[in-house]
Amino acid sequence: MVRYNKNDATLGNIAAAFQKRLRAPLDVTIVLDGALGEFTGKWEGGVCSAGSYGQLYEILGRLLRDPALPEGTYASGKELCGMYFATHFRNYLDEAPIDELCEYVEDLAFWGMNALELWLDLHHFRNMGEARPKTERLKAILRHARKMGIPTVLMTLSNEAFHESVRALRADWTPGHDGYVHPLGDHFHVEICPSKPGGMDLIKHYRRAMLEEFRDTPPDYVMFFAYDEGGCSCHECAPWGGNGHIRVVRELIPLCKEYFPEARFILSAWQYGTYNKQTVEFDMLAEALKNDPNGDFCDVRYVLSEPQYANYAYRPEVDMGRPLISFPEISMYKMKPWGGYGANPLPKLFDRLWERYGGLRKLEGTLPYSEGIYEDLNKVIVLRHYRDGQPAAKTIREYLAYETGLAGALLEETALAVEAMEETHNRAFDRDTHTVTVEHPERIEEIEAAILRADAALTEAARENVRWQLLYLRARIDGALKRAGFVRNAEVRALYEELARRTHLTEANGPSQRPDLDDGDFVFPPKPSADDADDTPEEGRVTVKK
Ligand SMILES: [Zn+2]
Repeated sequence: MVRYNKNDATLGNIAAAFQKRLRAPLDVTIVLDGALGEFTGKWEGGVCSAGSYGQLYEILGRLLRDPALPEGTYASGKELCGMYFATHFRNYLDEAPIDELCEYVEDLAFWGMNALELWLDLHHFRNMGEARPKTERLKAILRHARKMGIPTVLMTLSNEAFHESVRALRADWTPGHDGYVHPLGDHFHVEICPSKPGGMDLIKHYRRAMLEEFRDTPPDYVMFFAYDEGGCSCHECAPWGGNGHIRVVRELIPLCKEYFPEARFILSAWQYGTYNKQTVEFDMLAEALKNDPNGDFCDVRYVLSEPQYANYAYRPEVDMGRPLISFPEISMYKMKPWGGYGANPLPKLFDRLWERYGGLRKLEGTLPYSEGIYEDLNKVIVLRHYRDGQPAAKTIREYLAYETGLAGALLEETALAVEAMEETHNRAFDRDTHTVTVEHPERIEEIEAAILRADAALTEAARENVRWQLLYLRARIDGALKRAGFVRNAEVRALYEELARRTHLTEANGPSQRPDLDDGDFVFPPKPSADDADDTPEEGRVTVKK
């Protein structure tokens, strides 16, 4: 029996989601108790209480996985334990039915996720009208998260634009001047330069068009990315992350507040220093946040920076004036096509990052980069790091026990096989010859044998759990590949098809997301590019101040 305050609709939704996942009857009263503080929960005398909805999930999730949970207070190690869903190229996050995705969001909340981030990539569309189907899908996910009491983050690129943006106002991406030694990464060449006369107004015009659509789905946070994609390397904007981008953000914060008065902001320093090989962008951002006489940035709550790639902001002497949140890459690491072989557990990699940076007081959260569901175990490993500092080895065992019902020696043997998948992870792929080159294939047979032994012991329901299927198919695919000399044969192809069917990747159309299902008859659709642009596009017909 699950009891809760019937006047609180959100609490009712959380109670229903909890009830649905209970494996055995349990008497529990769910209470939202602000006195506990936003990031603390308590389990005592049959009452599960927490200071926020997000924290309620955290402690209810512990109870789902361990009905004999010791009574006590459970505080979150870090504040923002979120997840960024990259919805593009018809990947799982783009293609899974909305109901399935909503259930997945709830599952992650019970593992500790307390923020869900989404991005409407304007560049894919000519205008907001064309973007409407995608917008409606994103809004349905955001609405569900909100209904369930899970905070949301709406991501943006500060100077992004539709792919038919006004040519004359487009941003520079070239290196070789103004300190830039590399071209701006993944730049679409349609972004707008705020230093050109009329550029800032056009950036705000595009942003307002997008904000209008999201007005009825207010996020808890708006995040501004500077690069990847995005940016402008021109003389007036350089260095972008500390100059042009800051000017744009200063204008966009009040614009966003018109639509979302309660929103707070996150500034992303992702790829700062990558293109000019300097730290000046970090220093200029820190200075802008510190020296803020008009309070332009008073609602900026966090700065995002990922130490896996740039740890400057994590040095003791560097103070960004706000807590940091990390942006770990859990999806694409040393595997192509990513998601094309099933699960990609990387426990040692994330343990190393956590051991090095997790203890820093200025690190207050995480927003891992997710491309699908195949990295579900990496998500859970990172969430448990940030929630309670739990090492990956313990999380893997907790995950397998909860998701599959495995126990005892078989659980341990399976956990060791899952851990060993990290050794056979790194691989190259040639789509033309359907060849995979695994750096260290030595333990592939051993892993496959262990996973098959576990599979034989599972109930039908546990076997059908997509999380088990991802681990099972990874072991089977690698085994079949090795037997075939790492060139796709009929057995491997059938397993790829099975994986694509179970994880909605049949229609995936990004070369890095699509499993190797093709025989030279599939042509990847061209990405919209600047070359498609009309000189007098509909979205460009705006009055811009000169
Ligand atoms: Zn510029």
